[in-house]
Amino acid sequence: IDVRERYVKDKKVGEGTYAVVFVGHLRDDPSSLVAIKKIKVNAEYKDGLAMDAVREVKYLQELKHPNVIALHDVFSSKEQNLSLVLEFLPGGDLEMLIKDSDVQYGVADIKAWMGMLARGVWWCHENFILHRDIKPNNLLIAADGEVKLADFGLARSFADPGFRMTSQVITRWYRPLELLYGAHHYSGAVDVWSMGMVFAELLIRVPFVAGNTDLDQVSKICEAFGTPTEENWPGVSKLPHYIATDKNQVMPLQGRDFFMRQFPTAGPVGADLLMAMCTLDPRKRHTAVQCLHHSWWTVDPRPTQNENLPRKS
Ligand code: ADP
Repeated sequence: IDVRERYVKDKKVGEGTYAVVFVGHLRDDPSSLVAIKKIKVNAEYKDGLAMDAVREVKYLQELKHPNVIALHDVFSSKEQNLSLVLEFLPGGDLEMLIKDSDVQYGVADIKAWMGMLARGVWWCHENFILHRDIKPNNLLIAADGEVKLADFGLARSFADPGFRMTSQVITRWYRPLELLYGAHHYSGAVDVWSMGMVFAELLIRVPFVAGNTDLDQVSKICEAFGTPTEENWPGVSKLPHYIATDKNQVMPLQGRDFFMRQFPTAGPVGADLLMAMCTLDPRKRHTAVQCLHHSWWTVDPRPTQNENLPRKS
């Protein structure tokens, strides 16, 4: 039978810029809940392209991991709209927890959440898939507390044709310098930077580098972490939108002591991991595997068990 016949759509649970989300269930099993995400496909993109999109998304269906949202099915409906059938995750997202002042959490909880995030990112990279839009709002929480990577920049690339051809991937505050400088060839390191920004935000409960424009984001990153130069980042000046800094305004790269001072709750080992994620030169930045091998995960405090993690109120 037709895939769209396999599911029953129930009530609307949310709406974003690019999609409307419904809770639904398998026709044959009312207890198996799913989220049906109906993407608002741009009119220009509609003529025949929806089928290409379907084909393209199919590979994500093979990406099965506890920390990556499961994509059960993809179909285009009669109006040529694209629908994704996803794992239903009712626990909200990390942004809700960060912003809710009634929710209290500590470094052991952060370690648990970051561990789940790092494992999800590692799995994507192991399978040659970049997420490219990691931010607290895209880290959804399952009923059992498990954090899952969601929203693979898909909705956006379908709603906005040509979107992926540009380096305008990743919400500004979580975007690394190589993308802000317009690099066309980028790697998994972009996701690791975003992961570092999420780590910092979990620690201080506000976005760490919140630029008002792309240019402002560049200056804020340089103010915070130091100025990239040909010495500390060979090749940086050749990037398309590289902006040279006045010789007498070049700031040295921040060292361990900066991260320890800025993020005391992380502890010295946590601050060291954060520094490795926030290295300006993407070649020197830790990879997801290197992050997973860091000693922070095994030093005290141990990560909180899922059942004891704070939940949305
Ligand atoms: P945004 O990223 O702007 O929040 P989305 O289109 O991704 O928009 O989702 C809209 C809302 O739908 C989310 O805020 C969330 O409440 C809900 N939602 C999205 N995906 C799921 C899911 N897999 N399970 C449960 N609820 C979801």
